[in-house]
Amino acid sequence: MIKKIEHIGIAVKNLENSNALFQKLFGKEHYKVEAVESEGVSTSFFMLGETKIELLEATNSNSAIAKFIDKKGEGIHHIAYEVDDIDFEMNRLRNEGFEVLNAQPKDGADNKKVCFLHPRSTNGVLVELCQEKH
Ligand code: ZN
Repeated sequence: MIKKIEHIGIAVKNLENSNALFQKLFGKEHYKVEAVESEGVSTSFFMLGETKIELLEATNSNSAIAKFIDKKGEGIHHIAYEVDDIDFEMNRLRNEGFEVLNAQPKDGADNKKVCFLHPRSTNGVLVELCQEKH
C-alpha cells in the first residue's frame, strides 16, 4: 500500500546556500545532513508536519543529481511515497507495466529502503518508493 508523500526531493547546486534559503522559507532548521556515497549525493532534510523536504547536492560529476542539474537546472527532482512493503509494491508496479529502476530495494538516506520508477513510465516525474528500515 502507498501510504503518503514521505518527502519531495529538490536538486540544488550548493547545499549550504540552499539550507540557509530553505531555513528562511520554513522558519526552521534542517534536522539532518547525510551523505549517500553510493549515489554521489549529500542530502539535508527539513520536517514539515508529516512530510519532509530533501535537498540533494551532487558530490561528483557522475551523480544523477549533477546530470539532472546540467539538463534541467535546480528544481524538483523526485517525489517519494512511503510504502508499507517495498518488495510487494515493486512487484505490483512491475506487473502494472511501470519501469522499476532497481532489481532490489537499496539503502537510501534517512534510514530507508528505496527504489525508483523511471520518469518515462510516470508522466515525467521520477518516483521514489521508500520504506522505513526496522
Ligand atoms: Zn528521496
